[in-house]
Amino acid sequence: MPAEPRPFVTEASWLERLPKIELHLHLEGAIPLDALWELVIKYGGDPDVPSLATLADRFAYRDFPHFIQTWHWKNRFLREYEDFAFIARRVGEDLAAQGVRYAEVFFSPPDFERYGLEPQGLAERIRSGLDGVAGIRVALVADLVRDTGPEQADRTLEKVSEVRDCGIVGIGLGGSEHEYPAALFKDVFAKARRLGFRTTAHAGEAAGAGSVRAAAIELEADRIGHATRAVEDPGLVDVLASRGTPLELCPISNVRTGVIPSLDAHPVRSYFDRGMLVSVNTDDPKMFGNSLADEYAALLHHHGFTRLEIRDLLDRTIRSAWLESDERDDLRRELMADPGWRAA
Ligand SMILES: [Zn+2]
Repeated sequence: MPAEPRPFVTEASWLERLPKIELHLHLEGAIPLDALWELVIKYGGDPDVPSLATLADRFAYRDFPHFIQTWHWKNRFLREYEDFAFIARRVGEDLAAQGVRYAEVFFSPPDFERYGLEPQGLAERIRSGLDGVAGIRVALVADLVRDTGPEQADRTLEKVSEVRDCGIVGIGLGGSEHEYPAALFKDVFAKARRLGFRTTAHAGEAAGAGSVRAAAIELEADRIGHATRAVEDPGLVDVLASRGTPLELCPISNVRTGVIPSLDAHPVRSYFDRGMLVSVNTDDPKMFGNSLADEYAALLHHHGFTRLEIRDLLDRTIRSAWLESDERDDLRRELMADPGWRAA
């Protein structure tokens, strides 16, 4: 009997329909632009963005410091607890509409202290916003933010631990790798582990391989965010590969912020071919204009991935997720049974 013909599906529609997972996404960088525009208006507008149409233009960057500057500019429109319930709902709906079934999402409490907002209230409002969204499960990761220093990071950790039942599974460490090296946060990470949190640190994005080494060896981070520049130290890549350290790669983000000159320069292919536990993520999708479908398309076009290798990547992403083993098995079964793979 002849084999059933494989359905022809265009690449774009195949990528759109695929079930997806995000492990490195910042809530405050994923706000749909029309929702962010509502907040800009709520707080009296801004001369830099006279209309919704000009908002996207504000999100183009000369270099990494300019991106950080723009990140803080955007945060000026998040001043009340209810803003976080609002953006959480809108981000959750946007992800679900793209086929994202599971996401681990950062939020950055220290960035909002200037408005008198506490981590506990933020976590509760974010969870309430997510609760009404169907079709996706979202776990939270509290970014302790390097730039506040280790003492403040420790205080943030204490407060976050009071509301871990809002679905906070881990802590992260974003911010300036150069000015606040990972070693400063060794005790904070050890305490987070004692409290039962999983840990990740941004490293090898703005700074070089030494920053990744410090995150892996000194912080003993469970995962590394970006790790792009780990490739500058082959011995370090050997360590990450032999340990099976999951890496949250964000190729399009790295191009947009000038970490790498082009997508072709990203080490995703070499990491993948070594069998490393890599995932591909969008980081700040509404600030970079990318989606997970775009990220997967970039793997096909710039790194020669096949559709079956995309499936393998998704399997490695599931293995990297901070789920209990039975939840992980359930998620794998659900995602791999999706009819979208028939066109792989
Ligand atoms: Zn990030």
